[in-house]
Amino acid sequence: MMTFSYFMPTEVMIGKGIVKQKAELFRGLGSKALIVTGRNSAKINGALNDILEALESVGVEAVVFDQVEENPSLETIEVAAHFGRTENVEFVIGIGGGSPLDAAKAIAVLIQNEALTARTLITTEKLEGLDVVAIPTTSGTGSETTQYAILTDHELHTKRNLGQRIFPKVSLLDPTYTMFMSNETTLATAVDALSHLVESYLSVKANLVSDLLVEGGLGLWGECIEALQNKVFTYEVREKLMLASTIAGMAIANTGTSLPHGMGYYLTYYKGVPHGYANGVLYKGYLNLFKDQTKIEKMAKVLGLQNKESLIQVIEGLVDIQVDVTEDEMQKWTMDMMQNEAKLANHPETVEYHQIEAVFRTLQRAKN
Ligand code: NAP
Ligand code: FE
Repeated sequence: MMTFSYFMPTEVMIGKGIVKQKAELFRGLGSKALIVTGRNSAKINGALNDILEALESVGVEAVVFDQVEENPSLETIEVAAHFGRTENVEFVIGIGGGSPLDAAKAIAVLIQNEALTARTLITTEKLEGLDVVAIPTTSGTGSETTQYAILTDHELHTKRNLGQRIFPKVSLLDPTYTMFMSNETTLATAVDALSHLVESYLSVKANLVSDLLVEGGLGLWGECIEALQNKVFTYEVREKLMLASTIAGMAIANTGTSLPHGMGYYLTYYKGVPHGYANGVLYKGYLNLFKDQTKIEKMAKVLGLQNKESLIQVIEGLVDIQVDVTEDEMQKWTMDMMQNEAKLANHPETVEYHQIEAVFRTLQRAKN
């Protein structure tokens, strides 16, 4: 007997030139937009210009907040929301990788809830926010099809999910923008997308619909392995990676992510490791944790690979980094991770302290 639900209310449109083609939709969202971006990339890859032109063509005003840093902080959210409120904006457009998209979601909620601060936003009940349009320019986080917004809390020294349910109203996907990504960002974000597919598939919350999405996403991702290994990225490859990432978002919107995401946050926060690499570097240890390997072997096949070992080899080939961790750090993070009930609950088998520690320890072994 099956009991599950599936929910993903975002309208997703994909295609070359989609932003200008769909300009009309902005008119329905309000008369003034706050555009949220990172510091540079949206200006270079053409996305900001396309949006400004599209808005102008339908008579919608816009102001730009272009100060979102990687792994956006609560402080940034607050500054941007204050700006948006002062400017009386009626909706928010996020352009960028996961950092500006997540920031846009949080800002949209904070603008509408004046009595809150970015910190109390995390701890309060479910809130309504302004409408959000998401325009991804990396192919990794899937933020364009998830309700999550991951923010950095410098007081608590960690990254946290906002806890609100902020699905974008519309997501416009043009792979052209991702043509400008560096090889490092391309690889790190592709590994993030893969980790969403895998962690969704192996989650206790996996269901018929999320599995179908994951299998479709893995098929697309598998077709890009050679390109990722050779670092040759045609439009067709960029398009497949973007679709795989968006589909992965649809899957994790319903299943959440699992241990590598919980554990990888420490590597990003304390060691500055890009999010996708932070997950990927833990994958060998993670996949070897499972007593029941059935679904893992199936996954390797869907990717077009022989077995789990070849999957691990592919990931290790793409995640070519060294993370130095001390004994103390491993102990501290393992203890902390053992308190992360949400991530532990998504793992289908019981995990003990020494197992989590052993996964962190693979970082040391990788050195030799
Ligand atoms: P990111 O932090 O948004 O951006 C990484 C870098 O890539 C930045 O330097 C950015 O430059 C640059 N960049 C972005 N698009 C580019 C393009 N088209 N061409 C050239 N450079 C480009 O990276 P991300 O991996 O996409 O996002 C990571 C964040 O998302 C983390 O905070 C992570 O925790 C979060 N995340 C969220 C979800 C979710 O469901 N919401 C899931 C997984 C991860 P600029 O700064 O100049 O733009
Ligand atoms: Fe992720």
